[in-house]
Formats: sequence, C-alpha cells, structure tokens
Amino acid sequence: MVKPFASSADTGPKVETFVELADGVYALTAEGDPNVGAIEGEDFLVCFEARATPVAARRWLDRLRERTDKPVRYLVLSHYHAVRVLGASAFGAAEIITHDATRALIAERGKQDWDSEYGRMPRLFEDPDSIPGLTWPTLTFSDRLTIPLGGDRGELVLAWCGRGHTAGDIVAWLPRHRIMFAGDLVESQAALYTGDAFHDDWATSTLDSVAAFEARALVGGRGAVADGTDAVAAAIAQSRHFLDELRRTVRWVHDDGGALADAFRAAHTALAPEYGRWPIFEHCLPFNVQRYWDELDGVDWPRIWTAERDREVWAALQESA
Ligand SMILES: [Zn+2]
Repeated sequence: MVKPFASSADTGPKVETFVELADGVYALTAEGDPNVGAIEGEDFLVCFEARATPVAARRWLDRLRERTDKPVRYLVLSHYHAVRVLGASAFGAAEIITHDATRALIAERGKQDWDSEYGRMPRLFEDPDSIPGLTWPTLTFSDRLTIPLGGDRGELVLAWCGRGHTAGDIVAWLPRHRIMFAGDLVESQAALYTGDAFHDDWATSTLDSVAAFEARALVGGRGAVADGTDAVAAAIAQSRHFLDELRRTVRWVHDDGGALADAFRAAHTALAPEYGRWPIFEHCLPFNVQRYWDELDGVDWPRIWTAERDREVWAALQESA
C-alpha cells in the first residue's frame, strides 16, 4: 500500500482543549496539532506561537477573549516553522520576538518552508489566502530576554537552550509558577520532527538545559500538557529517547557503509513499536532520517526543504520501505 504523502491525508478536525495552567497562564492543545499559549501581564498579554494562518489564529484568540481583553503586546515565536508563525498578523502585537537565528532562517528559507509545510500539512492552513506574507520579528535576542509582567505577576524569561529542533528554538519560562512553554524542543506523546535539527546537540546539552529549569508543568510543541514534575520528566525523557534511537540506528547503518533507505528501515523498525501510533510519526520519519544522515556526512547547516525535495525524499524512503 502506498502511504499518502506526509500529513496530506490527515483531514479530520481535531478536538481543541483550553487549559488554564495557573492564574492568567493559558494553553490550547489539539490532539497533536501545534500548541499555542498565552500569559497575562498586568495590562497586556504575551502570546506564544501564532498558528499557520490568521484565520486559525483567530479561533484561538476567540477562546482567549472569553478570559481577557488585554491587548497583545508581545507575540513570541519559538522558531521559524510556518505552521507556528504565519498566523502572526491576527494578534496585532506591538512586538514579535524570536531568536536571532530564527530571523536569519526566515530570511534564508522562509518562503520555501512555507511551501513545504503547506504541502505536508494542508489541513493546518485554514484559509491560506488570509496569510499576508512572511512573518518578520521586530525584536530578536541571542541568549536570554526577560519581560516583567507588572503588578505581582513576576516575569517571563525567554531563553535559548542551544541548537535543537532548529538553530533558533527558544523556550518561555515563568519562574513564579515553574511553567515552561518549550516549543518543539519537547513533545508530549507526539513524534518529533527533526528535519531541520541538530540531533547531537539537542539530545544532549540542549535537553539538559531544558530539564535544568525543573518545570512543574510543560507545554510542548504538540500533545497534551505535561502536568507535574513526573510528567515533565517523562516528556523530556521521551523526546530524548526518540532522538537517541534515531541517532543510534541511522549512525549504525551510516558507519557500516549502508544506504539511506537501509537507515530509514532501521530507524522505523526501532521507533515504530513505541512511537508509530503517535501523531505525525510516519510523516516526519523520512525527513528526520535524511537530516541526520546529512549531519553524519558533515553537513552542519540543514539543507533547505522545498516542496519538490520533500516529494523526492518521501518517494525514496517511504514508498520504497
Ligand atoms: Zn517546528
């Protein structure tokens, strides 16, 4: 049976769950679709992630407006991927904040990534014509940026933990509540996408840095909220294990002089029993294996995914498996 390309056959609606993690701290999860969040300041809002289109973002904002009518002063984007940034115009934010590397990646490959992700996940692009163009940050940083929330609300810390899912992932951390929004650095019962990743950094020092915050609740990029220190540890451990198994199997075939398709089969065999039923597993795996193979070949900076290259790699791996 030929597997449908990426998530192109995933057309059914997902149930969205609105969660209040603490007073004025919100998340919306959606059965493995990209998560979004918001934090109330004394007289403003910080939103985390923007969804794929303004129309999709507006459905989230409508939920949020049932709780607060504060204006969005800051829109924080964890990384450059289209399904998290192209809805930005709906927020009317005074500042759009990313890591320095995210701005560079948008400049380098934003349009190709848009086309690639639209082809891979068409369902997420609700009313694609509502996207006004690429999303550009108005404020970037390299290491840490702290936003005072006003009143007795404490502060929000934005931090870069090292190269991981992309070169420029940032997390949002609320020390007062010990709550973290981790973007795609951590997934909770969803498969990891690593097609633009730095696997060795991510699986070691970067996840160590994420874990060192000792969050009591964590909103990953996809999947349910990890609530409680045990659940947070489990989500981080799962993400690390996924990466470790991918690295182990692909490296083994690569070092043994095997072919890319052999590495794909080895990774699939190792990962499918535990992760095969989780959202986007089959979609991601060919791109993940290709990227780690490139890293082992010495390609440090991820090659750009285009709609055409997506189809070539898919045909070479998923359709030959
Ligand atoms: Zn991503």
